[in-house]
Amino acid sequence: MTTTPGTEIIELETGVFARLHEGLTNAGIIVGDDSALVIDSLRVPSFARDLIRDVRHITDKPIQYLVDTHSHWDHAWGNEEFPDATIIGHENCYNEMIDVEWNEQWRESVMNSGDAWSEEAGIVKITPPNLTFETSMRLYFGGRELHLRFLGKAHTAGDTHIHLPDDGIVFCGDVAQDGGVPYLGDSYPDEWPDTDDRLVGLPIDRFVSGHGPVGEPAALAEARDFIHELFAMLKAAHADGRSVEDAAASTVAALTSRYGAWRSFDRLEESLPAVYAKLG
Ligand SMILES: [Zn+2]
Repeated sequence: MTTTPGTEIIELETGVFARLHEGLTNAGIIVGDDSALVIDSLRVPSFARDLIRDVRHITDKPIQYLVDTHSHWDHAWGNEEFPDATIIGHENCYNEMIDVEWNEQWRESVMNSGDAWSEEAGIVKITPPNLTFETSMRLYFGGRELHLRFLGKAHTAGDTHIHLPDDGIVFCGDVAQDGGVPYLGDSYPDEWPDTDDRLVGLPIDRFVSGHGPVGEPAALAEARDFIHELFAMLKAAHADGRSVEDAAASTVAALTSRYGAWRSFDRLEESLPAVYAKLG
């Protein structure tokens, strides 16, 4: 099948697909008996339309559900292209998506980035979930259980993990990547390490992240270790009253040998002042 340039669709199990987008944002597709479910609507409406076109290579069933792994623009700003779907997200994801000031800051930053989608970001009609949950929700879909779980705040306040227990698969948004540093600017440093412990505790043999390749449990554990080490070092530096520049530089230096080859590691240091400011 010929999908959108730069994308690749992998069938993980019968009816369960990861749609990976090189250097950009991944999505998931699950085919049920009478309808389909999509995980993440991607960055702007044209990206959502490309995704929907790619779904049509797999199934002609209507897209009944869209699940937002979290509120970030590159995952959820295509929501408006799914007017007939039930859009599911965590309650905190909903609250972030109706936070006008927060989203306008993101819009301005995307519009100023000079990327191919910058201009289109100006016309996005930010569309929050219309069905939310607080702790967990189960969907019995196409003969399988989809367990939507909130495991605590982490990358954002409302990260949803879509766990398929019978298949040993979890779609985990931006909480963990195989060999990549997640964006930290909206993170919850006090809670993310515990959330990662719960994520690693799920019985899975593959995870689909919002960015990068499909990973195996060893990579998920390594992503957890990274978050634990990162925040422990920053907190220790903060407790010692060290300057933000000193804390950032020494943390990056200490993490380089194990994680230096990861995607976006080169941007880690510049992202740390925002994290440091959140430490109490
Ligand atoms: Zn994100």
